[in-house]
Amino acid sequence: MTKSLTAATPEIMSSKLKILVPVKRVIDFAIKPRINKAQTGVETKGVKFSMNPFCDIALEESLRIKEANKGLVEKIHAVSIGPTKAQDILRTALAKGVDTTTLVDVGEEEVEPLQVAKILKKVVEKEDSNIVILGKQAIDDDANQTGQMLAGLLNWPQATNASKVEFSGDDVIITREVDGGADTLKAKLPVVITTDLRLNEPRYASLPNIMKAKKKPLEKLKPADLGIELAKKLETLKVEEPPVREPGVVVASVDELVSKLKEFKAI
Ligand code: AMP
Repeated sequence: MTKSLTAATPEIMSSKLKILVPVKRVIDFAIKPRINKAQTGVETKGVKFSMNPFCDIALEESLRIKEANKGLVEKIHAVSIGPTKAQDILRTALAKGVDTTTLVDVGEEEVEPLQVAKILKKVVEKEDSNIVILGKQAIDDDANQTGQMLAGLLNWPQATNASKVEFSGDDVIITREVDGGADTLKAKLPVVITTDLRLNEPRYASLPNIMKAKKKPLEKLKPADLGIELAKKLETLKVEEPPVREPGVVVASVDELVSKLKEFKAI
């Protein structure tokens, strides 16, 4: 029999959970990105940034695990690798209820998933984490690679695209949505999990908690402090908008539809 994480009791797990949640600062999901003039990426000036939505889901899941199981979670640590401004999303994470945070400040440098995974491995070791819950993908690079690479570097089991996380004794049971059904996996701690859209609905941080979070300590490191030298292995040659869609044609009858399809050589 399995128990939902939110229904688990501390006795069923022999180890306390030390959760690491990596969160990325990305252009807000509600904003339509524009390609910059040099066609090297998207325009970031004057654009609103927020926490990547899949990271928000990962954060929510870790908070629910902690709240539903008194004593089971020793700590939740959030980490972001990005510019100094990524502090904002760590403050949001603190306002929502994580215990501690680290900003790995890389300035304006774009960091590839392999580099992110290498930095995260160091943070896992530093924080002695035994479960890492990441988003399945960052909506800016759409890479969907970091969790998998981290699991490889750590040599930990990984369960990607989780839509449900449960406990059974010392096992973690993860359900993944796959085409036409569900795939259920079992793993022991330590484990890497990446979150799918339907795992939960993230909460909003309350105003008083946002104010309180401003005063909470936030650890700031550089990659070199973790023994990492940033090195790019990929070069972006060009970023292009999709081709503009031709306007549609309104037809009055089936006959006209058929003749139009013939005209466009669609049939
Ligand atoms: P990606 O592989 O880039 O699509 O990202 C997948 C997940 O890895 C994200 O949802 C985050 O949980 C984590 N991640 C990626 N980049 C960063 C970053 N710069 N800082 C913190 N976490 C990150």
